[in-house]
This record gives sequence, structure tokens and C-alpha cells, in this order.
Amino acid sequence: TAKRTGGGTYALYEARMDEGAQEQLNLQNDLRLALESGGQLALHYQPKIDGAQGQIRGVEALLRWNHPERGMLGPNLFIPIAERFGLINTLGNWVIDEACRQMRAWAETGLRMRVAINLSVHQLREPDLATRIEAALERNFIDPSQLLCEITESVAMEDLKSTQRAFDELARIGVFLSIDDFGTGYSSLSYLRQLPARQLKIDRSFVADVEASTDARAIVSAVIQLAHELGLRVVAEGVETQGQHDILLEMQCDELQGFYLARPMSAEALEAWTEGHKPAGSADFSPSVLGE
Ligand code: C2E
Ligand code: MG
Ligand code: MG
Ligand code: MG
Repeated sequence: TAKRTGGGTYALYEARMDEGAQEQLNLQNDLRLALESGGQLALHYQPKIDGAQGQIRGVEALLRWNHPERGMLGPNLFIPIAERFGLINTLGNWVIDEACRQMRAWAETGLRMRVAINLSVHQLREPDLATRIEAALERNFIDPSQLLCEITESVAMEDLKSTQRAFDELARIGVFLSIDDFGTGYSSLSYLRQLPARQLKIDRSFVADVEASTDARAIVSAVIQLAHELGLRVVAEGVETQGQHDILLEMQCDELQGFYLARPMSAEALEAWTEGHKPAGSADFSPSVLGE
């Protein structure tokens, strides 16, 4: 159809396509360099807050890329490029190593922080994922139950065989598993029962609607109750207002995460933030926190 609208339009369209493709090529090249040279990638950490006690229960590590010309880039921009150009496993391994290194650095200052990392489906398909994670934990003297792996629900369902196998292996080495962005992937909670997950994160889109929509409230409330019956802890993501916070607490949501409570921040900023939100004691970081 572009051809029929005349040469000018077509040329413009083609130019834009080229720009997009060229842009992706440039970024994947820059990302390759960033992975080789180091120093540009960082993990930021967003607290997960205990609903009842208001204390920090752990953090989620979120990848950031400080691009030399473009400035700070978020993962939605470059993770798809890493996946497309075969860089995701190298990038994912960097995240595993960096999260473990940081946990150990914190442990050395007396801070026993539970850290969650996000995994891509490409990582779940790697046969040595669990071995790699286990080695990184051992190298840094970290108890496996201190690490959580978050896998987006829709991604987990995309390749059930890989998910099931990877989850079983990760659970076997003692790492805890979390289903991220729950509610967007059309899977049933009864299917999730077969996965050795400990935590379920309700997608931001439901949280955003709980104040205005009775339907959203009904869905969230039902998900929380069912998840609890299945022995899963529930985290609400993307909590932005006091109203959402209060409704979710009333629904017995175990943990809350979102800009209303704390934004993702650098490791140093998190240390300062944590000073004001100290966990009640090391017992709170025992596996029982995740419903054992
Ligand atoms: P996610 O795992 O669901 O992470 C939550 C995202 O929501 C983060 O965006 C976070 O900054 C943002 N967020 C947190 N609270 C709020 C809030 O109250 N309001 C709003 N509007 N947003 C909030 P971010 O850091 O841009 O990450 C986007 C996605 O990229 C993540 O979604 C995750 O799927 C993926 N990702 C992040 N780090 C990694 C990584 O190391 N590896 C992989 N494979 N994926 C990653
Ligand atoms: Mg996540
Ligand atoms: Mg999420
Ligand atoms: Mg999300």
C-alpha cells in the first residue's frame, strides 16, 4: 500500500524503517561494548515493603544502562535488543554476578538483604542457568534462599517446558521463585500450582484500577485469597497512591512495591534509605517470610 500512495510516501516510510533498524544495530553494538568494557551497566534497587509492618522485606534489582551519549536508559529499551541480537544471556549473567556481589558487599556491612532479579525466557532455556546461579551464590557465600528470581507470567507461559524445567532446577538449588506481572498472561492459578513458586506479583495495571473500579478490586481480592490458599506470598507492584496502598493492605496483600513507597535507586541510595526503614531483625529474612 505504501507503493500506491506514491514514491514520496514510500521513500519516507522506508527511511523510517531504516532508521529504526540502524538505531537497533547501533544500540546492540554499544551494548556489546558496554558488556566488554564494564562501568556503564548498573543495578538499581526498589524496596518491597511489608504490608502490615511497613518494613523493607527485600529489593528488586532493575537493570540500568548509563549510555555514554544517550544517558541513563531503562531496560524496556535495551532488553528486547539484547534478546534479539543474542546478548541476553551475557547480560543476564552480568546481572546474576552483580546482584550476588552486591549481596555479599551488603552482608559484609551487616545488611542481609533479600534480592530479586528478573530473568528472561532465553535464560530459562539455557541448560546451565541453575548451575551458574548456584556458582555465583557460592562464590559470594550467599544463602540461596536470599535470592529470588522473578519471571513474567506471560513469558513463563510462552515456553512451558523450559519454565517447568528451569523452575524445578532453581527450586532444587534453593533459590526462591516469583511470578511477575501476574494477570497479564491469561494463565490460571491452578496451573501455577504446579510450579514451585513462592511469590506472586500482581501486575501494575490491576493496582492502578483498584481505587476506581469495583471489578479490579474483586479480581485483586480473589487473586490474593487464592494465592494465599496455594501458599504463595503476594506482592502488589506499581503502588502509586495512598488510596491504593490502603485498599491493598485491607485485602491482606503481603508486600507492596511502587513509587508511593520508594522508587528504584542506586545501591548507595538504598543503604541510606534502609537506615530509616530497618527490618525488625534477621529473623525477618528467614525463609518463613516467603511462606515456608
Ligand atoms: P518489572 O520486573 O515488572 O519491574 C517493575 C517496573 O515498574 C520497573 O521498570 C520499575 O521501575 C517500574 N515501577 C516500579 N514502581 C512503579 C510505580 O509505582 N509506577 C510505575 N509507573 N512504574 C513503577 P523498569 O526498571 O523500567 O523495568 C521494566 C522491566 O524490564 C521490568 O519489569 C522487567 O521485566 C525488565 N527488567 C528489568 N531489569 C531486568 C533484568 O535485569 N533482566 C531482565 N531480563 N529484565 C529486566
Ligand atoms: Mg520484576
Ligand atoms: Mg513486575
Ligand atoms: Mg511490570
